[in-house]
Order: sequence, then structure tokens, then C-alpha cells
Amino acid sequence: MPELAERLETVRAGVAHAARTAGRDPASITTVVVTKFHPAALVRELSALGVTDFGESRHQEAQPKVAELADLSATWHFIGQLQSKKARQVRAYADVIHSVDREALIEALARAEAGEDDVHQIFLQINLTDDPGRGGAEFSEVERLAELAGTTPGLELLGLMAVAPLGSEPRREFARIRELSEKVREGAPLGVALSIGMSGDYAEAIAEGATHLRIGSAITGNRPDHG
Ligand SMILES: *Cc1c(COP(=O)(O)O)cnc(C)c1O
Repeated sequence: MPELAERLETVRAGVAHAARTAGRDPASITTVVVTKFHPAALVRELSALGVTDFGESRHQEAQPKVAELADLSATWHFIGQLQSKKARQVRAYADVIHSVDREALIEALARAEAGEDDVHQIFLQINLTDDPGRGGAEFSEVERLAELAGTTPGLELLGLMAVAPLGSEPRREFARIRELSEKVREGAPLGVALSIGMSGDYAEAIAEGATHLRIGSAITGNRPDHG
């Protein structure tokens, strides 16, 4: 078996095992394969292996890649930091946006063209670090943002997204996100989805209720140099 297929199989088995261990149905978990820095050809190979969900984090790279792959039947997830002025362009090709973290971005994404009636699925990203430059909203802002996003026409607020900080205990960090989601849902129109878990911590994320995993290197191998 080629290496890519083997790595994909290993992760699929790992996800299924973690789900069963947590008493969850593996089919309730979407694995988004993160293809940033990799060429369109790799996305085609993954598609041929049955992958349907792909994640990209940089607009200038994702836009031409998605255009080149327009013939594939794929769901595109945008997972990187997003400038409000690029929101309209990303909205045009991304089916799901995981990195919504402020009011200006919600407003920019909501502004639909005349006659445009498609609904975009979004996650609110939460910052688990002390560094405001990392992207993601503060815990204290989430209820207000959920209220806004959840009532904005054209947007469907699926849930919360987060990245466990380097060096942290991921299970504990993901538990904080799960608890935050439960608390905010008592008063705001927030969906139950959780986009948590990457190559190194997806089992912990599944144990805390992940519905969307964003897995790159464990499947694609190391990313090419990106200077
Ligand atoms: C790159 C990236 C991932 C995938 O990371 P791996 O460790 O390669 O699995 C997941 N989420 C975000 C936001 C990323 O930028």
C-alpha cells in the first residue's frame, strides 16, 4: 500500500478506536484532512482514497487550489486566521469556516450579494493561549459573539473551535472548550459541534466530544518547507 493510504488508514482506525473507547459512534465525527502547503495533486490522491473534507489555512494558497480542484466532490473548510477584507472571497469557496473570532468578521461574512441565499456554516474560534495574536475570541466574548452569529441571516453557527496550546495537557484544554460550549448554549443559539483535535491530540479531543477533527501531518506526512 502506498504510504499516504497507509497513514490515512492508521488515522481512520485511530479515530474509530478513540470513538468506541468514548462510547461514541465513529460516524458522528468528521475528519477534515488539512492539506495546507501541499499541492492540488495530493488532494486528488486523498479524494481517490475516499476523503471528502479538506482544510486550508491561507487564503492566497487556498483560492487557486480550490479552483483547480473544482471538479472534485469535496467540502472545503477554512481553518486559518482571516482578515475581514478577505471574508467575501473566502466565503465564495469555503463551505465551512472554523476561524470566526470577532464581530467585524461575522458582519463581513454575513453581507450577502443580492439574490444570494446560500447558508454558510461557521465555528467560533476560542483562544486558549495568553497571546491575543494567536487568533480566537476570549472566553468572555463568546456569548455575545454566539448571539450575533447565531441570529445573522446566511450564517449557521455549528459550534466552537480551538487549538490546544503547545505544551499544554490537551484533554484538560478540550474539557474547558466543552464546558464553555455547554454554558453558552444555555442562553445563546450555539450549535453542539466542536472542532477540536489535530494530529497529536485527536484521541483526547474525541474523548471530550469532538465532532470535527482537523488532521494534517499524521495523514499527509510532513508539510513541504514554507519559509
Ligand atoms: C495546520 C493546522 C492543523 C493540522 O495540524 P497537524 O498537526 O498537522 O494535524 C489543524 N488546525 C489548524 C488551525 C491548523 O492550522
